[in-house]
Amino acid sequence: MKHLIREVFQEEGYVFATGAADIAREAGHTRPARLASNENPFPPSPKAIRAATDALQNANRYPDETNGEFIAALKKRHGDYRFVASVGMDGIIDTVIRTLISDGDRVAVATPTYSYYGLAVRAQGGVTVSVPRKEDFSVDPDVFCRDAKGTKLAFLCTPNNPTGTTETIETIAHICENYEGILFLDCAYIEFDGTDYRPLMKRFDNLIIGRTMSKAYSLAGLRVGYAFVPEWYELFYHRAATPFTLNMVSQAAAAAALRDTVHVKTIVSVVQEWRKRFIDECPYPVVPSGANFVMVDVTPRTAGDVVTELAQKGVIVRSCASFPGLPNHYIRVSIGEPWENEAFIAAISEIYRI
Ligand SMILES: *Cc1c(COP(=O)(O)O)cnc(C)c1O
Repeated sequence: MKHLIREVFQEEGYVFATGAADIAREAGHTRPARLASNENPFPPSPKAIRAATDALQNANRYPDETNGEFIAALKKRHGDYRFVASVGMDGIIDTVIRTLISDGDRVAVATPTYSYYGLAVRAQGGVTVSVPRKEDFSVDPDVFCRDAKGTKLAFLCTPNNPTGTTETIETIAHICENYEGILFLDCAYIEFDGTDYRPLMKRFDNLIIGRTMSKAYSLAGLRVGYAFVPEWYELFYHRAATPFTLNMVSQAAAAAALRDTVHVKTIVSVVQEWRKRFIDECPYPVVPSGANFVMVDVTPRTAGDVVTELAQKGVIVRSCASFPGLPNHYIRVSIGEPWENEAFIAAISEIYRI
């Protein structure tokens, strides 16, 4: 029966990095440092946990289809913008693509970057156009607008996964002004950086800013993402979305987490301190990062070799070799718990000396 499956799903899907964890286990590390997935190592806000537990009592009912509590918390946090919410930012990305892309439509992607955009575009019958970043991994807005010409939608990630690089507000404004399609700005890691693109929503009607509760807010397991959308677009988004998006437990937790501003501030400052230590103490060059991870240039070694050697020492990081457009000598290291970060610095320093 497999021949009935659409061609696009005959090829490989999203690649989860599991190889390094196996190597660490075989080397006898029962509790390795897990620095490969950009997760937040700190537990969610206690207020979020309490709200989720309370919400469970009502789980016999369908959730509020307007996501009212979460949207209200977003307006309180960010101001009077238009918001949509979904099952992770990945859910938002899917729905946005559904509203715009038919068979053969072209979508621009600033590369190297997060792989899910391409998978989601192809699933909808679209075709991706790679717009290469500069040598320092920043985006040249003129090149971007030239290469993205004729596309309906473009994805730009800032701070970018896996490079960690952040675009200036001027770059984004320049693109919004000169690009004729819709720009999806993926800000999954923006809380760790602090650049504020939100006011651009008031100036441009072709900008969507995607955000997630998975990273700075420690709720990856509950799958909550949201986006700032232009007012004219909101109606079409809802037409393309599934009728019920957020479940009531996730929504209650996300709303409570957003209201607990102290908790997220503390996490962000701990991450920023460690990011600085990674840059100062890692013997290999580290690309400047605005995220909760750093990308390290391990030349003259290869990414695969270093990932294996670190795994043997009980530290799991991600090779960037699977990101199209990146040479084979970068690894991505998430900022984890203090003991995990210490383990990484010690292990990479040993590898460097050999
Ligand atoms: C983690 C991540 C997301 C998706 O996060 P969700 O868990 O689906 O909300 C989106 N974009 C980038 C760049 C990410 O790294």
